[in-house]
Amino acid sequence: MAMPIFKNLEKLGRTLTRGVLDSLFPRPCIYCGGHRDGGGEFLCTPCLGDIAFIRRPLCEACGMPADVSYEFPLAGFLCGECRKNPHPFDRARSLGTYDTVLKELIHAFKYSPQPGAIADIAGLLERYFASAPEGYTGFYVAPVPLHFRKMRERGFDQSFLIAREVASVLNLPLASGLLSRVRDTGSQTARTRVERSRNIRGAFAVDRPEVVRGKDVLLVDDVFTTGATAGEAARVLKRAGAGRVHVFTLARVVV
Ligand SMILES: [Zn+2]
Ligand SMILES: [Zn+2]
Repeated sequence: MAMPIFKNLEKLGRTLTRGVLDSLFPRPCIYCGGHRDGGGEFLCTPCLGDIAFIRRPLCEACGMPADVSYEFPLAGFLCGECRKNPHPFDRARSLGTYDTVLKELIHAFKYSPQPGAIADIAGLLERYFASAPEGYTGFYVAPVPLHFRKMRERGFDQSFLIAREVASVLNLPLASGLLSRVRDTGSQTARTRVERSRNIRGAFAVDRPEVVRGKDVLLVDDVFTTGATAGEAARVLKRAGAGRVHVFTLARVVV
């Protein structure tokens, strides 16, 4: 029983220290360098407000924003890529586009390492889901697992932290043990979708299929690039008997 109290005290101590340090030496907004007065932990109010949520019209399968100018998207619209090569997941959605402010925030969160950026991310998730048309009733939230070697290098698992916030905002159970990462795949950057799909093959495993069977899963990751990683995770979950597999990422690359 002593541990949680100690942990809470430690957390409180850190929060207080940060509060004192912040008032003495206010850190500027990580994106524009301006004052964060009344803004988030890392971003100022105008920069937070500049993060535009991806809403319809979009591809109903992968969530890619649709261009209304040349192909008016009707209900059930699918982008060319999804019509050619359907993804193993049923649907993917992302909060925003992986550029400018959101990209900077994810970088601060992931590489600095400053997991404290989760406070700003949590605020964005609350606003995004408050007006999201998609329902996730009955879903279990599962992070796309990170390989333990990366976890050791980084000291924390960004997908797990985002998934925990998503579960809390949507009031859904967090099921972080559904999938495990059995193979380190190296960086997926600078690979095409086909190369990524091949490279990620066999990276995930389900240890207890009886826990996965029949469950609707909301897979959570930080960035959706080609969908290869989320697709492989969904394929493995479905093979183990999962019901619907939906994907949610903070950001997506829009080409
Ligand atoms: Zn700013
Ligand atoms: Zn699509």
